[in-house]
Amino acid sequence: TERKGYTEKLEKTVEERTRQLTKALAKEKELNELKTRFLSLVSHEFKTPLSSILTSITLLGKYTETEQQEKRDKHVNTIKNKVKYLNAILNDFLSVERLESGKVNYKNEIFPLSKVVNEVIYNANMLLKSGQKIQYPDNIDEAIVFFDEKTLELALSNLVHNAIKYSPEDSIIDLKLEIEEEFVVIKVIDEGIGIPEEDQKHIFDRYFRAENALVTQGTGIGLNISKQHLENLGASLEFSSKINVGSTFVLRIPKNLIPIRK
Ligand code: ADP
Repeated sequence: TERKGYTEKLEKTVEERTRQLTKALAKEKELNELKTRFLSLVSHEFKTPLSSILTSITLLGKYTETEQQEKRDKHVNTIKNKVKYLNAILNDFLSVERLESGKVNYKNEIFPLSKVVNEVIYNANMLLKSGQKIQYPDNIDEAIVFFDEKTLELALSNLVHNAIKYSPEDSIIDLKLEIEEEFVVIKVIDEGIGIPEEDQKHIFDRYFRAENALVTQGTGIGLNISKQHLENLGASLEFSSKINVGSTFVLRIPKNLIPIRK
């Protein structure tokens, strides 16, 4: 019996080891796949802007006469925009790195929600397509939150930028605010391209981009990062969407039950 006990123990150990090994292998495979996706994304996203910067710089060298100021301005503008875009995606990648390495410090503070919403809308106004409008929640002054301001700004600006990016000209982006017992709820509603049903379950996966979004530039990082930060702070991010009709993203921030001074 002693021997049988020993064999059984050995078998259990082998089984346990095999399980661990299989898990480690699967994890490594997943990491490798992420790495491949990441590299192809970087090369793809950098290629077009870089080549257009190069073209503009080459042409810029040719238009040296003052009477060709207009053409020069056009190329300088192109360069500026493309560099801005590259900078934005680099920031996206850096935010992944920061999140992964645990180098984030959250700091909850009391602030009126309008502070962040105003800031986000102010910045977003510059990105609006012709005829696009952002509608401001009319009850915004009712909400005071206790939350990490940077995280809220990151998440909300990502949602509003997406709403702009994935909606046509002359469309409305509606921001709604609902005050629930335990949460402050912000909704970003657009009339855009929507998310295909089969892609919806992947929308928060890192680097994932839906089929119908590929004509627009992006990294598939923003939603993933926003959601992770929000969840670290007890908030949540959800959505509903219908292709060619529009999407609604719902951000729920806990009130944290602090006494609100009136
Ligand atoms: P990015 O916009 O850089 O691709 P995100 O993480 O912000 O990355 O979004 C991931 C994907 O989710 C997008 O590529 C797009 O397919 C989809 N998506 C996000 N927001 C919207 C929206 N408002 N309307 C339609 N699709 C959206």
